[in-house]
Amino acid sequence: MGPLLQQIAALKSGEVTSHELVEQCFEVIEAKSDYNAIISTRPQALEEARLSDSSRSAPKTTRRLEGVPFIVKDNLLTTGDEMTSGSNMLRGFVSPYTATAVQRLLDEGAILVAKSNMDSFGFGSSTENSDFGPTKNPIDPSLVPGGSSGGSAAAVALDMTTFAIGTDTAGSIRQPAAFTGTVGYKPTYGLVSRYGMTSMASSTDTVGVIARSTADAALVMDIMAGKDVNDSTTIDLNEELTSLKGADLSTAKVGVITDWLTEGVDPAIVETVESAVEALKSQGVEIVEVSVPELKYALSVYYIIMPAEVSSNLSRYDGVRYRHTAQSSSDLDSLYLKSRTEGFNEEAKRRIILGTHVLSSGYYDAYYKKAQQVRTLLINAMDKALSDVDFLLGPTTPTLPFKIGEKTADPMQMYLSDIMTAPSSLCGLPTICLPIAGSDQKLPVGMQLLAGRRQDSQLLNFANTIEVVLEKNK
Ligand code: GLN
Repeated sequence: MGPLLQQIAALKSGEVTSHELVEQCFEVIEAKSDYNAIISTRPQALEEARLSDSSRSAPKTTRRLEGVPFIVKDNLLTTGDEMTSGSNMLRGFVSPYTATAVQRLLDEGAILVAKSNMDSFGFGSSTENSDFGPTKNPIDPSLVPGGSSGGSAAAVALDMTTFAIGTDTAGSIRQPAAFTGTVGYKPTYGLVSRYGMTSMASSTDTVGVIARSTADAALVMDIMAGKDVNDSTTIDLNEELTSLKGADLSTAKVGVITDWLTEGVDPAIVETVESAVEALKSQGVEIVEVSVPELKYALSVYYIIMPAEVSSNLSRYDGVRYRHTAQSSSDLDSLYLKSRTEGFNEEAKRRIILGTHVLSSGYYDAYYKKAQQVRTLLINAMDKALSDVDFLLGPTTPTLPFKIGEKTADPMQMYLSDIMTAPSSLCGLPTICLPIAGSDQKLPVGMQLLAGRRQDSQLLNFANTIEVVLEKNK
C-alpha cells in the first residue's frame, strides 16, 4: 500500500483528521522551502479541511479522496488561484476556471494545498528554466530534480504531499520521477482532459501524476481519466484503472529496448536496468530484445514539432489579453514586442523563434512536414514492436541527476535528456516510470514501461505486480 492509500485508510478510521494532514503539509512546505518546490500555497486549504472533517461523519461521504491534501503543477488552472506556468509572463494571473483533471480530484474530496514549481511553460528538463528559480533535488540539493514537473516530483519526495499532479509533453513527469526516486505516470494521449492546462505542444501534452507507488498513481489516474466535453481529444477506457488484480508473470512478455542500453547511456543506469530485467526473468517473465531503429529520429522530430506548436500556442501572450503588459508602449506593435520581450525568458524565446522558422514558407516542407512524416514512421515502428510483446522496457533517462548549472549554457545537452521519453509522447503511448536504483547506489535510477495506446489498465496492473519484485531487488 502506498502512502496515499495509507492516508485514506487513516482518515477513514479517524486516526487522523484532514485538518491535521493539511497542517502537516504546510509545516513540511515551510521547513523545506529551501528546495523551492512550491510557487504558491493556499492557506484556505485549512478551512476546507475543517469542512471535510465535519462532513466525514455524514453517511453520504463515499468520496474517494475525502480530506486528502495534494499539490498541482502551476500550469493547471484552479479557480481564484494564481497560475503562473513558471513564467513572468503570467505572474499574478488569476485562474478563471478549474482544469477538468483537478476538478475531478476536488469532486472526490481532495484538498489543494499548493502549486508547484516548473520550467516556464514546461520548457526544460531540470526546472532551471523557471522564472521562480530552480527547484533542488531532495536527494542532494546540488542536483536538479529533473523537469519540467520538478516541483511536483520534489514535493512528493520531500513528503509535502502523497501525490502531485504533473504534465508530460515529452518526459516532464517521467524524468523528474526518475531523478527523485518516485513513480511517474504519463497516460495514453487523450485519457486525461487538457482543459485548463497551459498549452505547450498540444499534440503531445498530457496530464498525469507523480506518487510513491503504482497503486497510489492508479487511484489518481482513475479519478482524472475519461471523456470531457471541453477537450475533444479525450477518450473513455471503460475500465477501472484501480482494479489491480495482479499480473500473471509467467505469461508476460516484455521487450527490452536495446537501442537505449548502449554507449552514451550512463553505465550505472545500464547496469541497474539490466539487473531489474534479470529479476523479472527470474519471476518467469519472458524477456526478448527489441530494436527500433526509428527511435534515433525521435528527438529531432520532437524538437521540430514541439517548437512549431509552441510558437502557435504562445502567440496568445500578446500583452493585451493576459497578464504581463509592458508599460509606456507607443503603439500596438510596440506593446506586443515589449510585452513579449519582457515576459518570456530565453528558452521560451528560443522555442518561439525555432517554431516560427520551421513553419515559415520555404522551410515548412523541409522541416515541419518532414518531421510529421518521420513521426508517422516512428508510430508505425513502435506499434509493430508492441504487437509482439505486452510491454516495452528501458531506462527513463540517459544520465543520472546532474548538477544545477551543469547544462544551462548548452541547450542541446539539456534537450538530450528527453531522448528516451520523447518517443512515447510522439506516439501517444502510456508509460510509467518506476524507481529501481540498487541500495548500494546513492542516486536514483528510473525504468520505463511502455504499453500500447489505451492499455493503461494493463500497464498499471503489471507495474503494480512487478513493483514488489523490483523492491526485493533493491
Ligand atoms: N524536456 C522536454 C522539453 O524541454 C519535455 C518537457 C515536457 O514534457 N513538458 O521540451
